[in-house]
Amino acid sequence: MVSLANVKPRVAALLGCLWLSACASRSSLPAPQTAEPAQPANVADGPRPPKNRAQAANSATEPPLDDSGDSEGEADSDTEATDEHGESEPVSEPTTGASRPHPLDGWSDEKIEQAVETNLTSLGPMSVGTPNAGALVNGVQAKASELYTLVSPGEAWGTQETIDYLNAAVQTVHDEFPDTPPLALGDIGARHGGHLKPHISHQAGRDLDISFYYRDGTKWYARGTRENLDFPRLWAFVRAIIAKTDIDLILLDQGLHGPLKEYALSIGEDPDWVAQIFPGKGSLRPIIRHAPGHDTHLHLRFFNPIAQETARRAYPALVRHKLVSAPEQYVLHKAKKNETLGMIAKKYGSSVRAIREANGLRSNLIHDQVSYRVPVTGGVRILRTERVRIPARRVPPPRKEPVRQSLASTR
Ligand SMILES: [Zn+2]
Repeated sequence: MVSLANVKPRVAALLGCLWLSACASRSSLPAPQTAEPAQPANVADGPRPPKNRAQAANSATEPPLDDSGDSEGEADSDTEATDEHGESEPVSEPTTGASRPHPLDGWSDEKIEQAVETNLTSLGPMSVGTPNAGALVNGVQAKASELYTLVSPGEAWGTQETIDYLNAAVQTVHDEFPDTPPLALGDIGARHGGHLKPHISHQAGRDLDISFYYRDGTKWYARGTRENLDFPRLWAFVRAIIAKTDIDLILLDQGLHGPLKEYALSIGEDPDWVAQIFPGKGSLRPIIRHAPGHDTHLHLRFFNPIAQETARRAYPALVRHKLVSAPEQYVLHKAKKNETLGMIAKKYGSSVRAIREANGLRSNLIHDQVSYRVPVTGGVRILRTERVRIPARRVPPPRKEPVRQSLASTR
């Protein structure tokens, strides 16, 4: 296990780059041409299904979920300036926020090593690696409350920061709108993070899926529309996430960007600020981004100034003490003419048996131009060598005198 984590980071970095067109183009490593982000193989293996079938809407026909955050070919926010490529930051990155105090400030590496060895929990939650190739140490399980119900308690493990940020944002909606029903909280992550079917991300305790607010009662996985969404509450939620937390990105189907933006402007939000939040005219990387399959829920990814930095400091000790396992990752490989499973296995350092199992193949027979999932043990990807720095929050300017709310359902 130690050797995996020590030897494989280059492989993991390469695999990470496969999700990132920007990264692949600047990488000196030879990136396989046909590999692309893995998608779950079939619909039955799609996004976390509603637990309550009576409340299910569209679940059987939902496409597999690409929640990597890389679907628009933008650089992963975990891989810029401080990564091993040493490239300068993309111009669209927001400015880095002020350095904040951290619980391990003043700790020597020896002291951290000793804590890892003798009192791991004293270090608190750690978000190790990246959302698409990571692990969670000392995770915290979300608890159902008046703020939200849990769809999958077993997959509701994240960092304390992630859960605190979520609670703060939902509480803001409750403060503004009494009698707000609970949201439905879908997956955060597995107890120790790592790969969680059917997601690509959700590996490092910083991602979560949560329902919309609906005008006709909270449902899980109901397709949101201009008609059924409760825009006042939904916008209050999104606004609080942006104003009060270290949000990295919010994945939302582009079909819902327009109605949400219209609502925000209708209540007097600053147009320039709004333009920086949504894709389009802004000069900064947008926070709200399109990803297929996100017309049924919001996917939130937070930065964790504490848990990411703790993980960075403790990583060598975590590896030495075999506390970081190597998560399973997949790449999609489109078979070429005369290519065999053995050749594909060799190319990715996988095995014929593993590829057969991942694709439910009963023989070694494969077909050219068909894409196969290739499981690769990549190890947790740690690229940072410097202190974790989090972008400055984009706090909204005060609202102007509200225009009458055209989409308001309550208030
Ligand atoms: Zn998600």
